Amino acid sequence: MIELSGITKAFGTNTVLSDISLKLQEGSVTALIGPSGGGKSTLLRCINLLEMPSSGTLKIGEAQVTFSEGRRLTRPQIQLIRQQTGMVFQNFQLFPHRTALENVMEGLVTVLNWPAEKARSRAMALLEKVGMAHKADAWPATLSGGQQQRIAIARALAPSPRVLLCDEPTSALDPELAAEVVDVLAQLAREGTTMVMATHDLRLASQIAETVIVLDGGQVVETGPARALFDAPTQERTARFIATLK
Ligand code: ATP
Ligand code: MG
Repeated sequence: MIELSGITKAFGTNTVLSDISLKLQEGSVTALIGPSGGGKSTLLRCINLLEMPSSGTLKIGEAQVTFSEGRRLTRPQIQLIRQQTGMVFQNFQLFPHRTALENVMEGLVTVLNWPAEKARSRAMALLEKVGMAHKADAWPATLSGGQQQRIAIARALAPSPRVLLCDEPTSALDPELAAEVVDVLAQLAREGTTMVMATHDLRLASQIAETVIVLDGGQVVETGPARALFDAPTQERTARFIATLK
């Protein structure tokens, strides 16, 4: 289980997340939606500590950390949280000078010190899973955006994270390529991968997520089952936002 309690994030005097408390069950898929600047990316980045929350508590599995201004986490504390998260970015962010296979192996070899052969077979299995085994030796630049994103998903999953965090995983892609990525994420969801994804893609959110959280102005405006929330939002702000996506 992943639990955020009272997570707040400020950049200087600008508070961009206010007192966010959430519980995500193992195997659940959650979509974060809401207007631009609402805090979706920052929230994801606070879960994997790419950003340090200003205050609050974060619990992922057995790891728990409490944040406060002026208190720095130790390297092992940060590593313990990071190792339990995998992140997929809007623009894939593959290593350009590594092949598809090497991209997926990289973290296993350099961070987890796996022997190369063991890393290679895990990476090949993941490329297989995302339908990219035939491109194992390809350079990222020679691949479509959808193919690159599927490799990025395999890379994020390589260390068996407890949660897969996806920040707008389809928004840089044409609809056809986005559909390939949605299919892969849907498959992972069926297999019980715990996921949190920020998205403007209603298809992605309604097809895959069970729960939707609407973030606006750094606050949770509304949260609920995806279908109910899309069909009959209870908050005016949610209704207005959803209308902009349709
Ligand atoms: P979008 O839908 O456009 O991706 P978002 O919901 O992901 O938006 P965030 O990127 O989390 O929103 O931004 C939330 C707020 O935090 C914005 O006001 C943004 O300017 C601010 N912000 C984000 N990162 C930083 C940073 N590193 N330094 C200062 N302010 C930041
Ligand atoms: Mg964002």
